[in-house]
Amino acid sequence: NSVQELMELDKKYFLHPTSPIKQQQDQGPSFIFTEGKGVMLTDILGNTVIDGMSSLWNVNVGHGREELGKVAMEQMSKLAFSSCFATYSNEPAIRLAAKLAEIAPGNLNATFFTSGGSEANDTAYKLARHYWILKGQPNRKKIISRTKSYHGVAMGSTNATGLKPFREFTNAFDPDFCYADHFSSEDLRRVIEAEGPETIAAFIAEPVQGAGGLHVAPDDYFKEVKSICNEYGILLITDEVITGFGRTGKYFGIEHYGVVPDMMCFAKGITSGYAQLGGVMLSETIHQDYMELSTGTLLHGYTYSGHPMACAVALKNIELIEEEGLIANAEKMGAEMHKGFQWIEGERKIIGKVKGLGLMGGLELVKDRNTNEKFQNPVAPLVVTEAAKRGLICRSVVFDGQDTVVFAPPLIISKEEMAKMIDILHDAIAAVEAEVLQ
Ligand code: PLP
Repeated sequence: NSVQELMELDKKYFLHPTSPIKQQQDQGPSFIFTEGKGVMLTDILGNTVIDGMSSLWNVNVGHGREELGKVAMEQMSKLAFSSCFATYSNEPAIRLAAKLAEIAPGNLNATFFTSGGSEANDTAYKLARHYWILKGQPNRKKIISRTKSYHGVAMGSTNATGLKPFREFTNAFDPDFCYADHFSSEDLRRVIEAEGPETIAAFIAEPVQGAGGLHVAPDDYFKEVKSICNEYGILLITDEVITGFGRTGKYFGIEHYGVVPDMMCFAKGITSGYAQLGGVMLSETIHQDYMELSTGTLLHGYTYSGHPMACAVALKNIELIEEEGLIANAEKMGAEMHKGFQWIEGERKIIGKVKGLGLMGGLELVKDRNTNEKFQNPVAPLVVTEAAKRGLICRSVVFDGQDTVVFAPPLIISKEEMAKMIDILHDAIAAVEAEVLQ
């Protein structure tokens, strides 16, 4: 039948991104999804599951939004593609850049578009380095990032990723990239001093670390970081690829910390995954310096920078986020999710720590919560499997000795759907607990 056929074709021809290669070869895909509606996904066998991860932290307005399909179709029928290179432009890209200047924090005001988050981060590094060339300080080349960070898989963003396995995978140990402890602003100072401040172009950080295990920085962290960057004349780049567009209960995650970066990268939630789009915003100051000091050509650009259909979808997606009050809902349902996690912590023995901000949440799993002893083999992947069996998609993080299950449901999630998610999660953890604490 066609399911069997698709399984075989998948195994034979489809090299999956970020996948366990052997397991995928042997078993094929665990779900072949065919439809989505709201927070639910349906697979080819008719199973429905709650998408507790907004797929890849990105389907903020939920699945099956016909408004977005309609806008995409209209734009594709009218003008599917035209270039934004040199002096060419198109209306959706212009209007989206203007809208971003309106909603972004502080004086962030000019946007360079890409097709996704990895390209956005590589663009930020290149623009930062070029900025210092324009300013007559070409030795400022290095990018400092944080331990446990994830910035994507282009060559620059791979090097900036603090999670070592991503760099080891391809031997990416470029000496122009260095790493500071993810929670310590003083460690940033240490790295700057050790490397030489005159060699550093920029520091990049996610307001909340997602793929690295859901780490919310201490309250004062970003204020201290900003002041250290100012002291040494280093640009601050925030990576809002996950935390942008309402995910944390504010438009952008950095707003929780009262800091405005010099550059801000975004992707994912800008289109809720309905089209491929990312970008970098520059502060008015940096933008003006660029305008005044540049004499040549901006020699960086992707074919799909400013793609008209993707930009039209983004504009409509932002309209939905605003009209439906989804940022406020993320804050409200985030609090609900946190309450649910705390209830599970009270019911079960293997929860070490409950973490989160808005609709980003994580549960650290431990063998003994009194001593914080970890399981010899991480159990988070078992929870993910048990949850999937019961109708909930979530994700495990086991890098750097971690054992965490993470969540990021769509911003449209209702109280009832959240209660269902928490119930399933509880049952999944109870099943794993029974197995591993015998
Ligand atoms: N930055 C962060 C914080 C991310 O979480 C991701 C992807 O998960 C990226 C960058 C890379 O984005 P993309 O996969 O769109 O290239």
